[in-house]
Amino acid sequence: MKDRPIQVGDLVMVVKPTVCCKSEIGIGMIFKVAAIARSFAHCITCGYVHPTEELRAYDENACGALLQRLKRIPGLGELTQVKIKESQRFPTRIMSNGDDE
Ligand SMILES: [Zn+2]
Repeated sequence: MKDRPIQVGDLVMVVKPTVCCKSEIGIGMIFKVAAIARSFAHCITCGYVHPTEELRAYDENACGALLQRLKRIPGLGELTQVKIKESQRFPTRIMSNGDDE
């Protein structure tokens, strides 16, 4: 699947720990990108102030995370495309018998 950069309006999920203190706070958080900006933000966990401006995505409450910590969640249209591709790649599915229930 061809991925594209995160843009305003995308649904994203925090998937990586913070770069400074490897805190996993926020991992799994999903939000819709309301803005992308380059900023000198500081870490809410350890207080580290990033020395260089870095691209961050912000939600509508101006809560942000570094772009590199985020993964874009594909839209429904894109998910359907992926499903079709996968079923083409694996045309026959071997069903397991037994164990379930
Ligand atoms: Zn930190």
